Amino acid sequence: MNSKIWLSSPHMGGTEQNFVNEAFESNWVAPLGPNVTGFENDLEDYLEVEKHVAALSSGTAAIHLALVQLGVGLEDEVLCQTFTFCGSANPIMYQGAIPVFVDSEYETWNMCQNHLEAAIKDRISKGKKPKAIILVHLYGMPSKIDELLEVSKRYEIPVIEDAAEALGSSYKGQKCGTFGDYGILSFNGNKIITTSGGGAMVCNTEEQKKQTIFYATQARDNAPHYQHSKVGYNYRMSNISAGIGRGQMEVLDKHVGLRQKMNSFYQDIFKDFENIKVFKETNQDCISNHWLSCITIENKGGFSKEDLQKSMEANNIETRPLWKPMHLQPIFKEAPYYGNNESETLFKKGVCLPSGSNLTNDDRTRIAEVVSKLA
Ligand SMILES: *Cc1c(COP(=O)(O)O)cnc(C)c1O
Repeated sequence: MNSKIWLSSPHMGGTEQNFVNEAFESNWVAPLGPNVTGFENDLEDYLEVEKHVAALSSGTAAIHLALVQLGVGLEDEVLCQTFTFCGSANPIMYQGAIPVFVDSEYETWNMCQNHLEAAIKDRISKGKKPKAIILVHLYGMPSKIDELLEVSKRYEIPVIEDAAEALGSSYKGQKCGTFGDYGILSFNGNKIITTSGGGAMVCNTEEQKKQTIFYATQARDNAPHYQHSKVGYNYRMSNISAGIGRGQMEVLDKHVGLRQKMNSFYQDIFKDFENIKVFKETNQDCISNHWLSCITIENKGGFSKEDLQKSMEANNIETRPLWKPMHLQPIFKEAPYYGNNESETLFKKGVCLPSGSNLTNDDRTRIAEVVSKLA
């Protein structure tokens, strides 16, 4: 059997272990230390615009702390892109708040500004103004940020920008993760870079960063004893994980380039298939890191999505359906939804393909062979 070709697996650059060893040698085996600070500085430099980054235990934790800081509580409503991974939406439930899901538009697969505005108007007319908007750049594709921020400003609703999949993507020359009132990043094992598990909050001010760290370290008041007047969490990143992150930052741009090349590879091998579209940027404003390369398959002759997935699996090549929209998930079946089933349609016809920066020429040959045999 050929070795497994994964969708997206960790890809070390080589220097990660040096940072981890330093942590051991200096006994900074704790959820603070020089690697945590160093990793935060690296991310701040990378994002270019003036931002303040707090390293956390996961992207989900970052979204949770953004909701906490925006004062989202019991029965409050939060607008959230429906076409996403559950990590975007679960923190709304942690706060006892109500998710209100908003559909995507077909160009970027991300939140549609028209559905967003319709949702805001309707929720206000029903008596509650939503407390926050969670935008996502799915699969690394920047959403229609100007249009969405215009709506959020007009209704004065703060934005949490879920850039978990979009580190290295940009919109009009500005890095994703830097547009929202809060931006969040993920360094889970399958993301563009990994700390084996981790995340970060991107804040506008040093004060917000301090507040984020305050909540992430059990909300300890300034007192000689352990005193708490707010509910805190244990969400800080470990100095060991952050060491991996510092090494990964050295290869981030290179790895983004390799993922973008994977997308070009798919555009090339599928170019003669009329029923298949490789998901890519539709204009110059957007640059996707192409975290995952995705295709949609129309049912009009040729092979089906199931045929492709089966053949890939038989050749030990991982594929995965697109994210199942949140409004179709059993846990969110009571949640309001505004849209036109764009995300549902994408879910039905889309597949994610192996996209890692560590794929080899042999891997690409194996993938291309499966496709050519199906043709
Ligand atoms: C991965 C991911 C998250 C959650 O990040 P974790 O670090 O795994 O908690 C949130 N939103 C999206 C869109 C993601 O892909």
